[in-house]
Amino acid sequence: MRATVIYGAGDVRVEQVPDAVLQEPTDALVRVVRSCICGSDLWPYGSRPATGHGDRIGHEFLGVVEDAGAEVSGLRRGDLVVAPFVWADNTCDFCREGLQTSCRHGGMWARDGVDGGQGEAVRVPQAQGTLVKLPVGEDSALLPSLLTLSDVFPTGHHCAVTAGVGPRTTVTVIGDGAVGLSAVLAAKRLGAERIILMGRHKDRTDLGREFGATDVVAERGAEGVERVRELTGGDGTHTVLECVGLRPAIETAFAVVRNGGTVSRVGAPQYPDVPADFGVFFRNITLTGGVAPARAYIEELLPDVLEGRLQPGKVFDRTVGLGQVPDGYRAMADRSALKVLIQP
Ligand SMILES: [Zn+2]
Repeated sequence: MRATVIYGAGDVRVEQVPDAVLQEPTDALVRVVRSCICGSDLWPYGSRPATGHGDRIGHEFLGVVEDAGAEVSGLRRGDLVVAPFVWADNTCDFCREGLQTSCRHGGMWARDGVDGGQGEAVRVPQAQGTLVKLPVGEDSALLPSLLTLSDVFPTGHHCAVTAGVGPRTTVTVIGDGAVGLSAVLAAKRLGAERIILMGRHKDRTDLGREFGATDVVAERGAEGVERVRELTGGDGTHTVLECVGLRPAIETAFAVVRNGGTVSRVGAPQYPDVPADFGVFFRNITLTGGVAPARAYIEELLPDVLEGRLQPGKVFDRTVGLGQVPDGYRAMADRSALKVLIQP
């Protein structure tokens, strides 16, 4: 079969790899119907040292079950399923606490002999716990929005939930990438009435307004902080959803959060330490967030997508075939595409 392999910074190839096959009785074999490129794939794409060997890549996909091991129940050949970006048994103590990203028997896609999502098929470990059945066909127009349940929409939701967003909280979202826009959508869904989106790409912040942002701040750094303060009577917002992962973003987050408020971060941190000094302590700021246990949220978010109330799939602005995946990486890296959908 063909799948995406990363060899180093800027070097992504689509190659022949060994066919995905069942190995454990808890596995399922899924033919990928839609996959996509994640903003977090751009970190290795930007900096992975060239080592001469390639690694599989991709952690967001939905597809059709082609086969399942003897210990997998509840899934049948032909079922359309979505996979969260971490696989998990969904039964251990961490999973029962809604922290499937810490599953005692789980792991990451494209690591340790597990297939990546950006390919023709995937062997899914712990399939019964990992996969969520979708009650639509593989020709459904909802597929792009359903695919966001794999990562970006639950990640935005996790950011809003851990921050404590609700009808009485004001919100600043930092970042107009797919996760930031998903966080806007999630905050709106949780009842937030004031949502300030910090981002400087107009086409993206326009989608943010459509998703529920009430204000857009295009300025960055000290100017951006000043602008948010002006919009909030000098105080900042109760919650700040940091969806970038770079140091200036977390610094801005602490600068625009209201005293007693909460900063939640879901941008994979590319900084070694958090700038939470005495000032942050004295203002009683809570820092929360982390990697989103997407599996914990899929059932809750699914009905809004199935019934068309929310269309998180609008974050996809380009579709490529498997052969054009390297072009898709280039387009996301140079910011000419927001998020690239892959139709193998
Ligand atoms: Zn588990």
